[in-house]
Amino acid sequence: MNHNIVKLDAGLYFVATPIGTARDITLRALDILASADVIAAEDTRSMRHLMDIHGVPLGDRPILAYHDHNGDKMRPKLLEYLAQGKSVAYGSEAGTPLIADPGFHLSKDAAEMGCLVTSAPGPSAFVTALTLAGLPTDRFLFEGFLPNSKSQRRSKLQDLAEIQATLIFYESPKRLAAMLADAADVLGGDRQAAFCRELTKKFEEVRRGTLTDLVQSLAGQTVKGEIVVLIDRAGEPKLNELDLETQIRAALETMSVRDAAEALAQATGLPKRQIYKMALDIGSKADR
Ligand code: SAM
Repeated sequence: MNHNIVKLDAGLYFVATPIGTARDITLRALDILASADVIAAEDTRSMRHLMDIHGVPLGDRPILAYHDHNGDKMRPKLLEYLAQGKSVAYGSEAGTPLIADPGFHLSKDAAEMGCLVTSAPGPSAFVTALTLAGLPTDRFLFEGFLPNSKSQRRSKLQDLAEIQATLIFYESPKRLAAMLADAADVLGGDRQAAFCRELTKKFEEVRRGTLTDLVQSLAGQTVKGEIVVLIDRAGEPKLNELDLETQIRAALETMSVRDAAEALAQATGLPKRQIYKMALDIGSKADR
């Protein structure tokens, strides 16, 4: 048995649960599940099952369902427990609560009541996928699920087209091929991308390539399981020297060389040093 009964302060404890392999749960999460006065779960059956696997007895403690469909009705009840000084542990069906999962309003209301709100961190599918996709991790944008309708999906992808960060989506296996085809169309087929399927489970798979490669690899294939899609950021904007010179001249009318270089480096994604040097040259010619 890998848990202890501990004295928990009154408050709300978000507990991350495994995204596949049941042993991906922290010892602290098990301590909290073993010790909280009240257990709340997006899916009480999965929570009971997880607790059984790890030998955490529920005993006579209440276990309550809290999910998207009953949140407004159930929240006051959980807040009442907190107001009575109880410790409440909440876990979503898999991964980290609030990440494409319920918990936001509960967290906000509990914090506004002045309760302790804390977390036993653990797995999340998008972080796991980011470590495996082979795409830059310095900046990323987690977009969750795209809209189901094709036109809304394409329009959302268009909004994301120029974002300078790795884009991360949750996607259903039914829509994966259509989503990747739309992404190739809207963002360009040569962008690097990956999809990560069934992470931490027996049939874990990471497929990497350009969007076109991935679309082609899925032709005639049925995909199953849970999926995260990751897409590389837009390439550096292509500015020719003449465009850049025009922009520098315009900027120098109102700014110092240093400020112009700073502003244009931000706007174009080009190195500041390169723009600074060009701005100095242009400025010194204008002075002559
Ligand atoms: N709260 C969860 C988290 O922290 O990742 C996400 C919950 S969201 C409702 C479920 C989606 O997460 C799935 O449809 C899938 O896109 C992704 N997901 C969850 N588990 C996964 C896994 N083992 N492998 C790949 N994707 C997974």
